[in-house]
Amino acid sequence: MAERFDVIVVGAGPAGYVAAIRCAQLGMKTACVDKWLDDQGQPVLGGTCLNAGCIPSKALLESSEIYEQSLGHYAEHGVCIQGVKLDLAAMMARKNKVVAELTQGIAQLFRANGITSCHGHGKLVSSRQVSIDSGDGQERIIEASHIILAPGSSPVEIEAAPLSGDIIVDSTGALNFDKVPKRLGVIGAGIIGLELGSVWRRLGSEVVLLEAQEAFLMMADQQVARDALREFTRQGLDVRLGARVLSSQVKRGKVEIQYEDATGTHQEKVDRLIVAVGRMPNTDGLFTAETGLALNEWGFIHVDEQCRTNLPGVYAIGDVVRGPMLAHKGSREGVMVAEIIAGRGASMDYDLIPSVIYTHPEIAWVGKTEQALKAEDVPYRAGVFPFAANGRARALGETAGFVKILAHAETDRVLGVHVMGPQASELIACATVAMEFGASSEDLALTVFAHPTLSESLHEAALDVEGEAIHIAKMRRKN
Ligand code: FAD
Ligand code: AMP
Repeated sequence: MAERFDVIVVGAGPAGYVAAIRCAQLGMKTACVDKWLDDQGQPVLGGTCLNAGCIPSKALLESSEIYEQSLGHYAEHGVCIQGVKLDLAAMMARKNKVVAELTQGIAQLFRANGITSCHGHGKLVSSRQVSIDSGDGQERIIEASHIILAPGSSPVEIEAAPLSGDIIVDSTGALNFDKVPKRLGVIGAGIIGLELGSVWRRLGSEVVLLEAQEAFLMMADQQVARDALREFTRQGLDVRLGARVLSSQVKRGKVEIQYEDATGTHQEKVDRLIVAVGRMPNTDGLFTAETGLALNEWGFIHVDEQCRTNLPGVYAIGDVVRGPMLAHKGSREGVMVAEIIAGRGASMDYDLIPSVIYTHPEIAWVGKTEQALKAEDVPYRAGVFPFAANGRARALGETAGFVKILAHAETDRVLGVHVMGPQASELIACATVAMEFGASSEDLALTVFAHPTLSESLHEAALDVEGEAIHIAKMRRKN
């Protein structure tokens, strides 16, 4: 007889493990199936986010930033460090330790919540059954009245740059280089390409990013994108827009790349190449054809607003369904679905999912961009405040960037907030809370912010919507 649960979750990434924990909290007997193995071939929880995504990339971004800052920036604080040297093996070991501590933490949470963790490849064989192949030739079936599919996504591979050992790598390989490449190519100047390119540039690589799109960071507010491109170029990232990679060959330990842009075909030679051209949903081998599970036209599992698939009792969440491929989006979907299964009403606001690029300066936004408001013909007013005029940013020596608030011209409701600058990833939380509560720019303007803080820039940007910012010279005002 198949073992029975109230809920089976397939996938233990930030969508699946959060869903499993919430289901267990709500009193449901829960199993979570995951197939991820670490370098030692041991099962680990946490999925892409913990093992090969958010966490290891942020650990390396932090370490590489400390290295770069210690090379020069501290001297302006009167702190002179001599003989700074890079111990890449130690940096990688620290990153691996951070990952291991967090993945073990999830295993502990599973134990504390009484969740049954099943290692192996899970496959939906009916609306109530999942088969688990644990790789030892044994296949077993478990059953539940509700199944949540959270298998995540994998890096897209392109014919123009097939992966090759540790020379042409995807994002996972780029988190594990054993030496700093002298010259590094990155295909794709999206969020992942920029973050990984930044890590290796800070550690000493000459980095060339080849991006097929003519516009930089299309999904971001274009005022932010323009400033960011200028800043990244100043740092030494060589971002080539409108550059489509056609082919590449590994020759004598180097990669020769052919790409085209508006001026013709070009060659580039690099020591390592990172392919960061996007991610695709993991649906291969996830379900049998007999289940009739529907995918959408882009290969994502088709779901409604509340993550119900076309099969009764079967839900799908995280990167495998529409919407931004972000950990926090998947986690929120996981909680929503658990609560729906428990009979509670639940929904989520897909318009208020913050996005962050953890470069230096950081870039973060929530809500609409200025170009989207224009395209939708929404009347708006903008307030902008530069970090160069913020006391705390000056004290930090982090003056690049600005906060921009977009508010409806008639109702004054905040429609979008865009931040490029220090701690943008943290500042955007304040904007997200305000927007979640339907704040107007006046609400933010009337709020008292502590001094001296970076968040005062958010306050000043709100004041600037009315042309009333205090720390901007009059001639800069619009009204
Ligand atoms: P995943 O995290 O991919 O987890 C899915 C799990 O399911 C995996 O463990 C997989 O092995 C398992 N699985 C798949 N199929 C099966 C099956 N059939 N049976 C059993 N198990 C299965 N997002 C952010 O929000 N912030 C960031 O800073 C950020 N940085 C990133 C940096 C990099 C380099 C990368 C690659 C991604 C980053 N992301 C970031 C994206 C983030 O990692 C994903 O959005 C997130 O992990 C998606 O969560 P998920 O639970 O849907 O899937
Ligand atoms: P993202 O989807 O944000 O991870 O970004 C991936 C980026 O890779 C997109 O901006 C694509 O335009 C870019 N891209 C995809 N294929 C190619 C290619 N062959 N050459 C250069 N850039 C590419």
